[in-house]
Amino acid sequence: MDARMQPDRVPLVDLRAQYEAHQDEFDAAVQGCLARSSFVGGSDHEAFRKSFAAWCGGGDVALVGNGTDAITLALVELLGQGDGSGEIVTTSHTFIATTEAIAQAGYRPLFVDIDPHTYLMDLDRVEAAIGPNTKAIVPVHLYGQMLDMRRLRAIADRHKLVVVEDAAQAHGARFDGAGPGMLGHAATFSFYPGKNLGCWGDGGAVFSRDAALIRRIEMRANHGRMEKYLHQFQGVNSRLDGLQAAVLAVKLRHIDAWTKARRQVAAWYDELLAGDNHVRRPHVDPRAEHVFHLYVVGVEHRDAVLQELNSNGIGAGIHYPVPLHMQPALSHLGYAPEDLPLTRKAADRILSLPIYPELTRRQAERVARALLDAVGAARP
Ligand SMILES: *Cc1c(COP(=O)(O)O)cnc(C)c1O
Repeated sequence: MDARMQPDRVPLVDLRAQYEAHQDEFDAAVQGCLARSSFVGGSDHEAFRKSFAAWCGGGDVALVGNGTDAITLALVELLGQGDGSGEIVTTSHTFIATTEAIAQAGYRPLFVDIDPHTYLMDLDRVEAAIGPNTKAIVPVHLYGQMLDMRRLRAIADRHKLVVVEDAAQAHGARFDGAGPGMLGHAATFSFYPGKNLGCWGDGGAVFSRDAALIRRIEMRANHGRMEKYLHQFQGVNSRLDGLQAAVLAVKLRHIDAWTKARRQVAAWYDELLAGDNHVRRPHVDPRAEHVFHLYVVGVEHRDAVLQELNSNGIGAGIHYPVPLHMQPALSHLGYAPEDLPLTRKAADRILSLPIYPELTRRQAERVARALLDAVGAARP
């Protein structure tokens, strides 16, 4: 629906606001790519690849077709294609892409329950979950908050495990000063339109400080190609288009300002919701620099509250309503719902409020007021 027709409506994300704010830059970048007509590979691809690698903190980057493939490609290069018997420790409280990638690479997810305050995989439980068939850990920096990677890497090293960080929601996040991929073997990003750094279709990236690993991933993502019509192995086709790279190069110039704006919106919500003890605000570890891909609160009677917000024109959502261990698609893993009680409990209470860099103070006030009213109305 067109946001302009209902001026009071606050969507979950507003991609058009971002396009309109920088339309001249975007249009020039796209025109430039059209004029060069290098649609796969080419100079836009290479320019963005280099600048994104530098922005990630000095390492190397492979640009791939999407964030799911990015995880798969990193796992396959680091572990080899699995036969389904190896396990990878991860969280059930994430988007299904995390486990789809694990399955595509030929491994099984081994779920660890979450920290109920941050909703992130509970590092206190990781070591006990590791068994003789465990090969890797895939932490998910959910909602834009990173896990303590120094601690996770120490656990992984004790057990000789590979670490691939799913940073699809955490562009620019830090923990103790280190961003995604600084301590893991690799970090993967998604450029899906609604992510903090998003293109105009599908896109993804793998970042690593290991340049040789990145070269192998690039090769695998490009038909195992060594040079034109000479292939070292049979790979896949998973590449980022030149047009998407051109769009992303524009956005990379603004991402730090947009992250600041997201933090401002989060600070407004924190302030506006602080007085109410029926709304649990996001818990941010003091060592984390959260990038607020999502601002997630916890409430009782969540479904009623969500319905009330939606009918009031507030584009709230749930990320995610059904944990992966309870998904029909993963029933073969043999988990019972009560196996991960904190994950299950969180899934019943979480609620994502609208957040994007262009969201105004007035809109934040409207959302907060609507939420507090809905929470009050839902209480028996
Ligand atoms: C979006 C997302 C992905 C997958 O990214 P795509 O580009 O959509 O394939 C993976 N993990 C998480 C946590 C995500 O949010």
